Amino acid sequence: MNRSRISARVRGIKPSPSSAAADRARVLKREGKSIVSLVVGEPDFDTPAHIRHAATKAMEQGATRYTMLAGSPELRQAIAAKLQRENGLSYDPKNIIVTNGAKSGIYGALEATVEPGDEVIIPAPFWVSYPDMVLACDGVPVIVQCPANQGFKLSPAQLEAAISDETRWLLINSPSNPTGASYTLAEYRALADVLARHPDVLVMTDDIYEHIRFDGNSTPHLLDAAPELRERVLAVNGVSKTYAMTGWRIGWIAGPSDLISALNTLLSQSSGNACSISQAAAVEALNGDQRFVSESVAIYRARRDRTLARINEIPGLSCSPPDGAFYLYVGCAGLIGRMTPSGTRLETDGDVAVYLLESVGVAVVQGSAYGLSPFFRISIAASQEILDEGTDRIARAVFELR
Ligand code: PLP
Repeated sequence: MNRSRISARVRGIKPSPSSAAADRARVLKREGKSIVSLVVGEPDFDTPAHIRHAATKAMEQGATRYTMLAGSPELRQAIAAKLQRENGLSYDPKNIIVTNGAKSGIYGALEATVEPGDEVIIPAPFWVSYPDMVLACDGVPVIVQCPANQGFKLSPAQLEAAISDETRWLLINSPSNPTGASYTLAEYRALADVLARHPDVLVMTDDIYEHIRFDGNSTPHLLDAAPELRERVLAVNGVSKTYAMTGWRIGWIAGPSDLISALNTLLSQSSGNACSISQAAAVEALNGDQRFVSESVAIYRARRDRTLARINEIPGLSCSPPDGAFYLYVGCAGLIGRMTPSGTRLETDGDVAVYLLESVGVAVVQGSAYGLSPFFRISIAASQEILDEGTDRIARAVFELR
């Protein structure tokens, strides 16, 4: 019998293209090539010292055992206080569950709710993991193209057209990876008016980049604009990006009791609680000194401004200023159809990414990975020196095209 040892579910998904691009850059580096990697999606800062010390202290004081599955009471209290203080959202800690990073929270929530054939609406450009997570849950990703001329955001008409009897979820990520686009309250209100006509559609808001934004405003939440949606919204967030804590793996979801309870049941039989020591660190991140957040955002902003200006000086490339997150989603339509010095025609943004890597050693991720082409994504979570070197090299590579 020729039965695959790997399930159809896993055969139907692919590894994260951004991890694949990062791995490719690492291999080339190890081979001795000079590589500038603009791929990574994590802060280049260390976790602030007061947060690290809280973890050490917790460990020394014996916080080394299982916690409650949904997270320690202290952390859920800190998250509830954060939601109230920063977002004006009032959640009882029992409506909050702590997960192993936002990623496993999103995946778990889909697993707990998606039946085979259920549709999940994903505006593109999207975070690379969403469609594959849906596929892994036997759902159907419904990708809606949201081009640059609509600010890379889903319009109410597009939402209306995408909803069917099979729709289970709408996934919203604001500010977005990869474009940095952030929905305004008015835009949320207009989407909520459509959702009002479709009461069975649930909404997951991925708020992981909420604090990394460049206009000095706070990021609005869908539930600010439409509090009536509360019983069908899961608000996902975590400490990874805001506090430079990607390795600690702490995320959370706030939402209605039935969904949180289903997720609790699922995680109790799969991952178990998030790391006890990381939870103690996350309490300090949320309750402690917040200066790191504004200081790091000021640095991202300076990098964004400078790198954006340099990219927009390169003929054939264009990028509009992102509202937030730490990426530039660079339009490369002007390079498509041009010839490399070795005589290859650039047909796709994938070809552009390969050309940049092979000709000048700059690693970027092609727009096709995010569902909207022709673009490539640059991460600005790298020092200004690296970003300058990267943009210089990109300019050189573009100059050589015929
Ligand atoms: N959501 C988005 C949009 C992301 O870009 C990422 C990380 O790249 C995550 C979620 C995952 O966050 P975490 O590290 O908390 O799992």
